[in-house]
Amino acid sequence: MLVRGERIAAAGAAESLETPPDARVLELPGATLLPGLIEGHSHLFLHPYDDTSWRDQVLGESLAERTARAVVHAEASLLAGVTTMRDLGTEGAGSADAGLKTAIEKGIIPGPRLIVTTRAIVATGAYGPRGAPEHRLPKGAEVADEADLVRVTRDQIGRGADWIKIYADYRWGPNGEARPTFTQEELALVVRVAGSSGRPVVAHASTAEGMRRATLAGVRTIEHGDGGTSEVFALMAERGVALCPTLAAAEAVALYAGWRKDAQPEPPRIRAKRESFRLALEAGVPICFGGDVGVYPHGDNVRELVLMVDYGMSPLEALRTATSGNARIFNLGGLGHIKPGRIADLIAVPGDPTLDISTLRQVELVMKGGKIVKAPRKAF
Ligand SMILES: [Zn+2]
Repeated sequence: MLVRGERIAAAGAAESLETPPDARVLELPGATLLPGLIEGHSHLFLHPYDDTSWRDQVLGESLAERTARAVVHAEASLLAGVTTMRDLGTEGAGSADAGLKTAIEKGIIPGPRLIVTTRAIVATGAYGPRGAPEHRLPKGAEVADEADLVRVTRDQIGRGADWIKIYADYRWGPNGEARPTFTQEELALVVRVAGSSGRPVVAHASTAEGMRRATLAGVRTIEHGDGGTSEVFALMAERGVALCPTLAAAEAVALYAGWRKDAQPEPPRIRAKRESFRLALEAGVPICFGGDVGVYPHGDNVRELVLMVDYGMSPLEALRTATSGNARIFNLGGLGHIKPGRIADLIAVPGDPTLDISTLRQVELVMKGGKIVKAPRKAF
């Protein structure tokens, strides 16, 4: 393969390429070259909850600390082979993701190409952190309802949001269970306002009803989907709405709660996750690679791919979700393929990841936009 400037000039066997005499030649024996990974669900402004709880991060860490952490997380992601990343909310750090994206674009700090959402939008009363009713605690997202959703959506666009994220449900049921938040009309309103500016909407939804409303409203992707039924997955498949299953986050939360994976049976929440993922695959729902990284360590993005395979997807299909699949779902025409004319975001891993997906944990080479950001250990 030949790279010129930031793009792939030619692809194929070495002998078939017309290599210019001044070309720098990189040999990667035994390695597989693939497009840079496109992470679909991250939180660069969060770090694992077994270290500091979500609540303590949102309420107790300064914006400066959170941004400093995000800078470190962005580099860790890039070195792990993630060359593009959709970040789904700063969780209390305002629109700092938009500034982080600018700093990466200007070359001030290393990191993936970012798609940012600034603050997620949540219904009044639904979201945390919660305190005593007489206190008004700052929230991990932006609160809006009814007509105010128009102003908030437009305001977020003005502050740099590439996508709008909305919570279609949350754990605010009478017994703390997940229940829908916004009405069908409210969700449709946000999709309409975002859509007229050319921006897609992503919905957090784990109940079948929240997923159904979000799908009918016209969102592009649904995150989590734990309670998805055959009916709602069939509807998503019909409308081309993708599912980001976030298997790795569910597992991480169970592990933090004390589950010993090697010694104990799977807790109900993990069994439900397996089942909903199976139903989604069966229904032909487009699957997005997105693990909710930040709940678990940045740079360990591949954890989600390993679980997708463990839960029934073939390694090749899992690889597609992280490359050409997410490129299609996120409208990233220049990325996700190794073809002449595409942007040279490339990684190399040892062996054959279509046989063993976990080789993606040992990324040897990372190239972003034709520039090598991680070089193989072996000299070249
Ligand atoms: Zn998330």
